[in-house]
Amino acid sequence: MSQINQELLKTIDVEDGLTAEELFDRKASVGMTYNDFLILPGFIDFPADAANCDVQITKNYKIKTPFISSPMDTVTETDMAISMALMGGLGVIQHNCSIEKQASMVRKVKSFENGFILDPLCLSPDNVVKDVYDIKHKYGFCGIPITEDGKMKSKLLGIVTLRDIDFLQSEEDLNKKLSEVMTTDLVTAKDGISLQEANDILRKSKKGKLLIVDEEYRLVSLLSRSDLIKTRDFPNASIVPGTNQLLCAAAISTHPGDRKRLAALVEAGLDIVVLDSSQGNSTFQIDLIKYIKETYPKLDVIGGNVVTKTQALNLIKAGVDGLRIGMGSGSICITQEVMACGRPQGTAVYRVCQLAREFGVPCIADGGIQNVGHIVKAIALGASGVMMGGLLAGTTEAPGEYFYHEGHKLKRYRGMGSLDAMDSGSAAAKRYYSENDSIRVAQGVSGAVVDRGSVKKFLEYLELGLKHSMQDIGVKSLQELWDSVASGKVRFEKRTSSAQIEGGVHGLFSYEKRLYQ
Ligand code: GDP
Ligand code: 5GP
Repeated sequence: MSQINQELLKTIDVEDGLTAEELFDRKASVGMTYNDFLILPGFIDFPADAANCDVQITKNYKIKTPFISSPMDTVTETDMAISMALMGGLGVIQHNCSIEKQASMVRKVKSFENGFILDPLCLSPDNVVKDVYDIKHKYGFCGIPITEDGKMKSKLLGIVTLRDIDFLQSEEDLNKKLSEVMTTDLVTAKDGISLQEANDILRKSKKGKLLIVDEEYRLVSLLSRSDLIKTRDFPNASIVPGTNQLLCAAAISTHPGDRKRLAALVEAGLDIVVLDSSQGNSTFQIDLIKYIKETYPKLDVIGGNVVTKTQALNLIKAGVDGLRIGMGSGSICITQEVMACGRPQGTAVYRVCQLAREFGVPCIADGGIQNVGHIVKAIALGASGVMMGGLLAGTTEAPGEYFYHEGHKLKRYRGMGSLDAMDSGSAAAKRYYSENDSIRVAQGVSGAVVDRGSVKKFLEYLELGLKHSMQDIGVKSLQELWDSVASGKVRFEKRTSSAQIEGGVHGLFSYEKRLYQ
């Protein structure tokens, strides 16, 4: 084996590439976006699945995957918000709809993963079979505890499930009293039992429901087997600490009228409010942040959007728990073209995160994410999470129906500042115009994106892609990535336009680009 010259090793200079600060050299006065640079590889001494993506997404909430879906009416409603949270991310429920509709979406997300259901619907032995079918029709479940007076905190007598009544369909059957059909051989547990212990009993008993009772056998709560299965399938789910409820975020505008909307969302159980404004540095937003912090001290507020340190500082001073970064980088967006305002997203993310980190305020890089590489770059530049619109709009969980065009399966995707969204006439579009404007100036377009299948599968792909990339860079956690970027250990390099062409598929006559299976 040839010997390496030890003296030479001591003197050799292996410094390569640029630090982040050199990459974003202010004097060069160039705004850069994700495609304009690459991260140089580091040293691998761990498997990709050892990489950990846990992240603080606001001052008070942590999530396990840094993925957030955008509050747009073609991206995030109930299904998307539930799926994002189950997969360890966060969905921000859109507000281009009535207050009632948005509050009901929040309520559905919060009641999805119930754990102990503290207010289960009960009936009395004198109710009839038809009452159970009515509940099934209205709420979708029919495991109904039967108590002495038909209410909670009353003596438990039995339970009626679908199996007790599924053959009872005739007029006569429907009027049968529940005392005649209910099951009285019950699996119960004592109040105070932990969720883990309760789950164990439920698993062993093979029953669908576990009834929790107090010393006097009065019903205090209920645990459902289907919830147990959901928890098992989604070990990373974003859960509010101390509860078994999914973490829920929703957007509102900064218009004064939206204070009423916020009250309804908080009443429905909202955890995080996102102030949806394309230029967040305004008295409207600063006043609103102060109002929210005073009125709802337990609610976390994500302010924005911002792209400069000055904008960010004003919102930090007003008390935000998180910031959203991006102006004009969205795939459907024409703001930079029309308003001449904005900033390339790479520079915006780096500069704002640099400031926000000093104050412990997590940042979300919003818009312009087209692939896993962009996610890695946004995070390397300091973001705690990425917000995606276009990338998620083609999934089954996004609102809207698929349609076919020239052999492609598509879903509609539109900017919230498109004329299309503004014409639908409600809240979210207020982000982009003032009510007294005599004509509406569009800041977005309306189009279509290709089918991406279930968002659950797609997020698995994004997470795995991110972990493989962390392995290549040689960092096991997002914190390690930020620390290594700050210390200059993780290095960067600019990409010329020909380097970008080289980095993509090239020189083939034809190819099919499949990303995962
Ligand atoms: P069931 O067997 O028809 O009751 O339905 P499942 O057990 O399959 O699902 C019931 C779902 O509804 C679970 O996710 C529960 O957490 C949820 N749920 C919410 N409120 C209630 C309630 O008052 N009673 C019951 N049985 N389920 C509820
Ligand atoms: P995408 O992930 O599709 O690149 O970008 C989504 C982001 O674009 C959203 O989260 C939001 O910040 C922004 N956005 C949504 N609609 C519009 C619009 O009509 N105009 C502009 N300028 N930005 C939009």
